[in-house]
Amino acid sequence: MSEIIQAVRGMNDVLPDDAAAWQQLERAAREIFAGYGYREIRLPLLERTELFKRSIGEFTDIVEKEMYTFEDRGGDSLTLRPEATAGIVRASISNGLLHHQRQKLWCMGPMFRYERPQKGRYRQFHQIDVEALGFPGPDADAEIILLTARLWKRLGIRGLSLNLNSLGTPDSRREYRALLVAYFRQHLDVLDEDSRRRLDGNPLRILDSKNPAMAEVVQGAPLLTDHLDAESATHFARLRAHLDAAQIAHVVNPRLVRGLDYYSRTVFEWVTTDLGSQDAVCSGGRYDGLVAQLGGDAVPAIGWALGEERIVEIMRQQGLVTDEGRPDVYLVLAGDAAEAIGLGLAEKLRDAGPGLKVEANCGGGSFKSQMKRADRSGARYAVILGDNEAARGTAALKSLRDASGQREVALAELAVELTRALRTAAT
Ligand code: ATP
Ligand code: MG
Repeated sequence: MSEIIQAVRGMNDVLPDDAAAWQQLERAAREIFAGYGYREIRLPLLERTELFKRSIGEFTDIVEKEMYTFEDRGGDSLTLRPEATAGIVRASISNGLLHHQRQKLWCMGPMFRYERPQKGRYRQFHQIDVEALGFPGPDADAEIILLTARLWKRLGIRGLSLNLNSLGTPDSRREYRALLVAYFRQHLDVLDEDSRRRLDGNPLRILDSKNPAMAEVVQGAPLLTDHLDAESATHFARLRAHLDAAQIAHVVNPRLVRGLDYYSRTVFEWVTTDLGSQDAVCSGGRYDGLVAQLGGDAVPAIGWALGEERIVEIMRQQGLVTDEGRPDVYLVLAGDAAEAIGLGLAEKLRDAGPGLKVEANCGGGSFKSQMKRADRSGARYAVILGDNEAARGTAALKSLRDASGQREVALAELAVELTRALRTAAT
């Protein structure tokens, strides 16, 4: 016997029964993006390793230990994308998309990080990503957050809260950084190895530590919010006023710094209490320096990414998944004459009602076993075609979801009857 080949650890199959929730989320996102003037961009999953080192930053979890990096046959170092922003900025620069233009872009797809797999944390996971390039804000910051709030509302998701902070500009961070380093130096004994290494490279990242042993020292650290430059403070106040005007509740969390190096000013995170310690479902921020850092002009930008696995899990927990993907009608074909015209009848039904989901019985079987399949398919109605009905030019229309019984319908009337019955059942 051959051995069964297992999937790669931390990489999941989305089975057909689960795909409905994903489609529901992605459909809602697409509709909402169109409603805000965002357009899709599709990018390679592989980029040059250099791109992520230069954008995400050397002293980050992603670059230090989470990237899938390998040499290809030509000797180039390539990396499976761990996030989407770097690729979008790279593509925008190299395709001239930012030349006297602004861009509102979205993309969705798999990301790869070599993390310890656990509930809500995988090695291949999926993000929906939105970026507004060329917008200095704070109106664009507010709008991109409004977009997320609309998505939760459309999906029916409850109980998410919005955390907000401003990181100021790199210049204004310099003074604060010195204070922070001095503070952490006084507590060297409590710092873990990662944090000690980051003390010189990127001390702000220490504030992002999830190590519970360091929670206290992080709590006591000086706050960046107390050292904001005047312009960043105004930007932040205006953003909050926009959100207040739109009645988007938010909490200022002065310890929110986010894991990547490229953020400036606005950072935010939507968090949930439904998923245990994997509580961030959507995170983003402004990155005014990144485009120039990657060789483009000085173009301000802001974006966010949501974790599809985590949103889908919340949709499931909150009972929001509608059972898409089930047929409207299952066509039972009992007898040779019925079987001979069955596929043709199914085609006619699909012609008559675009969008009508028809599953015709394939592979024969007794009447009883076909009725069982009809039931299992989740269809609302069975159309039963026996040889007698076929001879009379009729079929029986039977509800599978209530006790309203069955009635005989002329084949020529079937599409109209079925559409009417489905519409009544839906209301
Ligand atoms: P976390 O703090 O949970 O590690 P992060 O700050 O690394 O998240 P981002 O890089 O901002 O996350 O990615 C945006 C979103 O993608 C997160 O809010 C989360 O929902 C999702 N996400 C990130 N890493 C994973 C992963 N390994 N598995 C599943 N979802 C993830
Ligand atoms: Mg992470």
